[in-house]
Amino acid sequence: MSSMHTNLDRREISKFDALASRWWDPQGEFRTLHHINPLRLAYIEQRAALKNQRALDIGCGGGLLAEAMAERGAEVTGIDMADEALAVARLHLHESGLQVHYRKISAEALAAEAPAQFNVVTCMEMLEHVPQPESVVRACATLIKPGGQVFFSTLNRNLKSFMLAIVGAEYALRLLPRGTHEYAKFIRPSELDAWARGAGLELRGSTGLHYNPVTRDYRLGGRLDVNYFLHYRRPD
Ligand code: SAH
Repeated sequence: MSSMHTNLDRREISKFDALASRWWDPQGEFRTLHHINPLRLAYIEQRAALKNQRALDIGCGGGLLAEAMAERGAEVTGIDMADEALAVARLHLHESGLQVHYRKISAEALAAEAPAQFNVVTCMEMLEHVPQPESVVRACATLIKPGGQVFFSTLNRNLKSFMLAIVGAEYALRLLPRGTHEYAKFIRPSELDAWARGAGLELRGSTGLHYNPVTRDYRLGGRLDVNYFLHYRRPD
C-alpha cells in the first residue's frame, strides 16, 4: 500500500473522535487551541492574504482555525480523518453561519487529486500525531500553488519540551488531557525544515509559542524550543 493509505494512526484518530463533542467548548479539553487561535490567525494574516484566497487546513479537527480563516474571507477547505470531528465541524457552521468545505481525505490523497490548488495551506498541531510527518509535508508542498504560503506548527523534541508540553501541560497544569502527546513523535525544527526544503519549499519565517503559567497567557515570539511555527513559501 502506498503511504496515502498507511500514514494514519488509528489510536490517534480514535482519541480525537472520542473528544469530538468538546471541540467548541472554550473551557473544555481543547481550550488551549481556543486560546492560541487568535494568535496563530494573526501570524498567518501578517504573512498571507486570506480574502478571496483558497485556503486548506490539514488536520482541521472541529474547525477552529478553518472557521477563523473563513471569517477573514478565505474560501476554506478543511480535511481530517476523524469522522466525529468533521461532523462537529460541519454542525458548527450552522451556529457560526460561515462556509467551510469539510472533507474526510488524507493530505496525500488530496495532493494526488488537486495539486497546486491552494493559496494558503495550514497544518497546525497535527504533524506530531501522524506516523510519517514527512509525507504530509510533501503533500503540503504539492497542494500549494506556486507563490503560495504554507504554515506548520508542532512541538520540538528536547528535555524542555518534554518537561513543559508533557509533564507541565498534561500532568501539572492539566492544560491538556493526559496522553494527548507522545514525546517520540515531537519534531525538531531542523527535521521539519529538512523535509520542507526537500519538498521544494523555502523558509520565510519562524516563531515560538510560549505559555506563561502565571498570567495564563500565550505569546508568539522567542525561541523555538517548545511549541513553534514555521512559515514557508512555494517558489514561483
Ligand atoms: N489543526 C487543528 C486540530 C489539531 S488536533 C487545530 O490546531 O485546531 C490534531 C488533529 O489532527 C485532529 O483533529 C486529528 O483527528 C487530526 N489527525 C491526526 N492524524 C491525522 C491524519 N493522519 N490525517 C488527517 N488528520 C489527522
